[in-house]
Amino acid sequence: MKLLKKQRAIILLQGAVQGMGFRPFVHRLASSLKVAGSVRNSVEGLIIEIEGEEEKVEEFIIRLLSSPPPFALLEKVEVLRLPPLGYEGFQIQRSEEGRTGLLFPLPDIATCRECLQETLTPGERRYFYPFTNCTNCGPRFSIIRALPYDRERTSMRKFKMCPDCQREYDDIRDRRYHAQPIACPACGPHIWLEVEGRRIYGDALKEAVNLLLEGKILAIKGLGGFHLACNALDEEAVRKLRERKRRPFKPFAIMVRDLEMAHCLAELSPREEELLSSPQAPILLLPKKGDLPLAPSVAPNNKYLGIFLPYTPLHHLLMRECDAPLVMTSGNRTDEPLSASHREAKENLRGIADAFLLHNRDIVARCDDSVARVVRGRMVMIRRARGYVPLPLRLPYGGEDLLACGADLKNVFALCKGNWAFLSQHIGDLENATTFSFYKKVLKHLSRLLNIKPKLVAYDLHPTYHSTRFALSLGLPSIGVQHHHAHIASCMVENDLPREEVVLGVALDGTGYGLDGKIWGGEILLTTYQGFTRLAHLRYIPLIGGEMAIKQPWRIALAYLSLAEREDLLEREGLELPAFLRRWGEEKVKVLRRMMEKGINSPLASSMGRLFDAVSALLGVRFEATYEGQPAVELENISQECEEHYPFQLEGEEPLIMDVLPLIRGIVDDLLEGRRKEEIASKFHRSIVEMLASALCILRKRTGVRLVALSGGVFQNALLLKMLWERLEGEGFSVLIHGKVPPNDGGIALGQAVIARSRLEG
Ligand code: ZN
Ligand code: ZN
Ligand code: FE
Repeated sequence: MKLLKKQRAIILLQGAVQGMGFRPFVHRLASSLKVAGSVRNSVEGLIIEIEGEEEKVEEFIIRLLSSPPPFALLEKVEVLRLPPLGYEGFQIQRSEEGRTGLLFPLPDIATCRECLQETLTPGERRYFYPFTNCTNCGPRFSIIRALPYDRERTSMRKFKMCPDCQREYDDIRDRRYHAQPIACPACGPHIWLEVEGRRIYGDALKEAVNLLLEGKILAIKGLGGFHLACNALDEEAVRKLRERKRRPFKPFAIMVRDLEMAHCLAELSPREEELLSSPQAPILLLPKKGDLPLAPSVAPNNKYLGIFLPYTPLHHLLMRECDAPLVMTSGNRTDEPLSASHREAKENLRGIADAFLLHNRDIVARCDDSVARVVRGRMVMIRRARGYVPLPLRLPYGGEDLLACGADLKNVFALCKGNWAFLSQHIGDLENATTFSFYKKVLKHLSRLLNIKPKLVAYDLHPTYHSTRFALSLGLPSIGVQHHHAHIASCMVENDLPREEVVLGVALDGTGYGLDGKIWGGEILLTTYQGFTRLAHLRYIPLIGGEMAIKQPWRIALAYLSLAEREDLLEREGLELPAFLRRWGEEKVKVLRRMMEKGINSPLASSMGRLFDAVSALLGVRFEATYEGQPAVELENISQECEEHYPFQLEGEEPLIMDVLPLIRGIVDDLLEGRRKEEIASKFHRSIVEMLASALCILRKRTGVRLVALSGGVFQNALLLKMLWERLEGEGFSVLIHGKVPPNDGGIALGQAVIARSRLEG
C-alpha cells in the first residue's frame, strides 16, 4: 500500500474577506475535504492553516481561490508550504484584537432565497418577520457605524439577541453563524404605521396595503432610506404623487412582486432576469410591455420602465399582500437627498405622504437604489449605490491616501487607499445646498469608516464647481483634472487597462470645462492615464443665455438654425418649433438672436448633449427640460435603428472638427417635406454614429490606435451606444464601455483618482 504524503500550508488572504461568512466557508470547505487546521482574522488579513494529504491540500487551495464567497475581493494571496505538524480537526480561532490594515465593509445584500422561504412559511419562528436575514443577506453598509464589522458597531446594537438567535449566531453549522444583524420577532426591530397621528402596530403591514389599494401615498422606511409608494395601476394616485412631489415627467421606478409580474410589464432577457434577482437587485430600465394596465403617468413619453424586485423581507411581504406593482420612488423632495431619519422624513415628506410605514432599525448610511440597463448583454451602470457601494475598484497605481471630489452633477466622490478606490454612493447635484451638506457628511463618515486620511485631493478644472471650491478649501496638495479626461480614464480603469495603455477616448456629455475655457462635450481624445491630446471635437456653437440654454434647448436649436443659415424654417406655418417661438414672443426671440450675434452671454460649446437637446427642440419633441437630460431622453424614446443618415463634414488636422451643420440642414429639409419626427430622430442617431465612426477611422490612421473607450452621459442612451458599439466593432476597433461605474458624471471621481495617481508616479 502506498503511503499518502502529508503536507501543511499557510494561506494569507488580504482584501474584502470579512463579514461575509468567509471563516465558516473555509471551515465547511476544510471539513468536506477532510483537512485539518485553523482559520483566523489577523492584522495582516485572513490566515488559514491547513494540513492533510498533498492532493487534498492542493484541491483546498484551488477551490478556495476559484470560488470564494460571492462578495469576497481577494487583493493578495500568499501560500507557504511547510512540513506537517500532525494537526487534527479544524478550528475557527478568535480574532486578534486591533485594527487590521485592510478592512472593507460590505454592501447591503438582497434577501436570499432561504430567508425569503422562511419568512413565508407558517410555523417558522420568523414567519412574516420583515427583518429576517442571515450571513448571506441583509443590511450591511446602511447600518455600519464603524469597523471591524460587529453588531456592537452597527445600528443593531440596541437589540439584545434572544437565546434562540444567540444559539444560531454561535453555531458554525448554522446559516446565521456570526450574522451581525441577526434578528427575530422576539428580539429584533419591528414596524408600525403612522396615519393621522395614530400609531398602528399589529396590523401595520395590512393597514399599509389597504391604504395603498385605496389610492393613498405612503412613505416607507426601507434599507438605505425612505421610498414614496403608491399603486402603479392607479392613475389618479400616481398623478397625485407627481403633483405633490412637483415632478411632472421624470419616470418613476416600479417594484414588482416577482419576475412573473416583471414579465407582465416589460420585455426581459435572461441576463436581465439574472440581474434583477441578483444580490444587488438594481433597478433595471426595461422596454415597456402592456400586459398590465399600468398608469400612464408612471413613465410618460418613455418606452422604458425602471423595474426592480423586493430586496428586503419587508418589501417582499408588502408586495405579496398588495399583489399590484408599486411606484417606489426616492423619499425626498425633488433634487434633495433621500430622507433617512424619522424626523427628516416627517419634515420633508409632510404634504406628500398620507401615512408613514416606519421601523426602529436606524439607517446609518443612506443609500439610493442603484439603476442600470443592459445593452448587447452587458450591464451599463447608470446610478451606483445600494448593492455595489462601498465595494472598491482596483487602480493600476498605489500611493498615499487620496480624495477625488468628483463633479457637481450626479456627484460621487472617491476615497483611495493603496490600489483601492472606494466610490461613495450616488450623492446628487451639489447645486442644492442640502445635497452639498450631505456630500460633506458622507465624506466624513466614509473616511472614518475606511480609515482613509487624504494627503492629496483631485478635482474638476471647472472653477465655479462647488466640488472644486471645496477641494481647494481643504489646504491639501491638489491636482486639477480635465472633465473629459476623467470620463475616459474612468472607463479605462474599470476595464482594468494597464498603465501604459493608449486609447481613442470618445467623451460625449452635456457640459465639461475645457482647457480653452469653453464648454466641451463632443470630444475624441487620445488618452493615457497621465494625459490626453484633443484629436477631434464637435464644432463650437453659442449657448444663448448660458445656463438657460440647458433648461430651454430651443435656444440651442435657434443657434444651430442661424449657423446653418436655415432660419427660413421659422417662417413656416404648421411646424412645432416656429409655433412655440411665436407663443413665446417674437420680439424676445429677436433679442436673443442679437445677443448671439454679438456674443453676449453666449458661451461656446462643443457639447454632444446639447446637440441632442437642440434636435429634440427642433423636432418639437421637447422645448423645455423639467429634469436633467429630458429632451435627449425623449428623443431617444421616439427613435429606432435605421440605416439612413444625414450628411456631415470632417475638416481640419488637429483638432479634426466634426461639423454637423450639413446634418441640421438635412433635418430642416425633412421637416419642410413633412417627414415624421420619429423618422428624423432615428436618422439623426444614425448620423451621429456614422460621423463618429468616420472620424475614428481617420484618427486610427493618424495614430495607429485601435482601442476605443466610450464615456460621458450621452452613452446612457442605449440606442446610440448599441449602434456605435456595433459599428465600431464592424470597423475592426476594440471597444471599451462602462459597466461598473456610470458613463455619466457619477464616474468622474474614479477617473480623477487614477489620473492624479498616475501623475505622481510619472
Ligand atoms: Zn439570508
Ligand atoms: Zn431573536
Ligand atoms: Fe460629464
